[in-house]
Amino acid sequence: MALPTTIELQIVTPDKLVLKENVDEVEIPGSQGYFGVLPGHTPLLAGLAVGELWYRKGQEKTYVSIAFGFAEVLPDRVTVLARLAERADDIDIERAEAARARAEKRLSGAQQSAVDYERARTALLKSLARLNVSSRIGVGPRTGGMKRLRNQS
Ligand code: ATP
Repeated sequence: MALPTTIELQIVTPDKLVLKENVDEVEIPGSQGYFGVLPGHTPLLAGLAVGELWYRKGQEKTYVSIAFGFAEVLPDRVTVLARLAERADDIDIERAEAARARAEKRLSGAQQSAVDYERARTALLKSLARLNVSSRIGVGPRTGGMKRLRNQS
């Protein structure tokens, strides 16, 4: 059987279908780290972390902020069932800036329970993913900012 040449990418949240497109490549923020998918990939099921998913059509890359859920990878299809997913156009930058400032303030507080710390850390990661994605409209390759942050934790 011939190998597929494209991937049907579908991203859904509990609220809506965020995206359904035929693409050439996808990179996914998996719970064990970022991983890339090309047509013909081995089937797998992966948990999602907080970060930036991108997909490429030809030379053009598009970024989507993602948080939690699962990705099912098949040779010709990737289905992302995310708790949260926002395309760049849908991101409210001021809201994300405010969330980042709030999270940074909480993380710098001296008295933190482990639960509060983890909540603030997740809020910070979500806000950074949103800010990164919104800053990528019309810009070039990724800088790896989220990867660096994730690797420090
Ligand atoms: P905030 O603290 O800024 O209110 P939150 O962490 O409470 O955000 P989430 O639980 O991450 O919010 O998301 C709740 C809903 O709001 C989701 O539908 C998510 O897509 C949307 N959302 C959150 N922040 C933004 C943003 N900056 N721009 C657009 N949509 C957002």
